[in-house]
Amino acid sequence: MQFPYRSEFEHEEPYGAPQLAVDVRLNTNENPYPPSALVREAMERAAGEALRDLNRYPDRDFAELRKKISAYLAQESGVAPSPNQIWAANGSNEIMAQLLTAFAGPGRKVMTFVPSYSMYSEYARNTFSQFVAGARGDDFRLDLARAQADIERERPAIIFLASPNNPTGTALDFQELRAILHIAAQVEPQGAPGARSLVVVDEAYAEFRREGVPSALELLEEYPHLVVTRTMSKAFAAAGLRLGYAVADPRLIVQLNVVRLPYHLSSLTQAVACAALDHAADLQANVAQLRADRDALVDELRNRGFEVLQSDANFICFGRFSDRHREWERVLAQGVLIRETGPAEFLRVTVGTTPENRAFLDALGYRC
Ligand SMILES: *Cc1c(COP(=O)(O)O)cnc(C)c1O
Repeated sequence: MQFPYRSEFEHEEPYGAPQLAVDVRLNTNENPYPPSALVREAMERAAGEALRDLNRYPDRDFAELRKKISAYLAQESGVAPSPNQIWAANGSNEIMAQLLTAFAGPGRKVMTFVPSYSMYSEYARNTFSQFVAGARGDDFRLDLARAQADIERERPAIIFLASPNNPTGTALDFQELRAILHIAAQVEPQGAPGARSLVVVDEAYAEFRREGVPSALELLEEYPHLVVTRTMSKAFAAAGLRLGYAVADPRLIVQLNVVRLPYHLSSLTQAVACAALDHAADLQANVAQLRADRDALVDELRNRGFEVLQSDANFICFGRFSDRHREWERVLAQGVLIRETGPAEFLRVTVGTTPENRAFLDALGYRC
């Protein structure tokens, strides 16, 4: 018997990096330092409280969580969005899926500039939107003239920009971001007469950016068609929690609210996320260390003869390899799992603990 599976999904594979049981896992950009005993206790208390009311549905509007996200952003970036500018879901991946449900779909286009996060094309597929991949420059940075031509020709409903970009690690500067926002503000998307293209800046790795690199949050006031997404999966050391959030114009948040599933954020998720935000500094205690270790790892890889892309994230894209799969396997055989992703001749490694970084360098060796 054949199931009525949609033709769009035929021969498609589920997304995901290999989850292999090796000692050193540097392939999914997690923070390698688990929560401290103090934070775990606070989370346990919060979860325990939430369990008392487990017979009830959670707060649909997650009011407490919104307030805490706002306070966290004020301290992290100097921008304090009001709670009605904030949206949260089970990972920023769910937010992006909701964004496409609300703003893309059949007859509309979703665009990004590759190489970038490979999930964007999957959300497009899942919402029957047309995915358009614009090209980057030779250094994998945005090529603004080309981007402008691509956007004006394709007229996408949504433009995704990851900053810092995954898998290359490079952040956008304000000039680039403003240029894209200005271009998008002039474009009437295909399938949405009278509207303007949305620009979604995916800041999953924002907390790892180098000193002086701005956050797109600072531009929200000026550009109503800007959406900034963030996550607790990376710097926040809470990938297991599944909590992502977006900041945008309050009217857009109201529209997102329409397409969410009922009670999409469980009371346990909300309680533990609130406890995590109360202890943001503790959870991110190792971020400064990770940034310093990243910079040191970049230098070391360059010393060893590799080509390394500038990183504002907690991972590094390096090459070049004529056969990167063989290189990936060679490193894996020594107990270190990295990621086979990004530009054709490159591999990506997550910055781990000091011993993990050492194990990676030992396994990798020198570029001959
Ligand atoms: C890891 C990552 C995310 C985070 O996804 P979550 O669903 O929040 O875990 C989002 N965007 C990019 C580019 C990422 O690399």
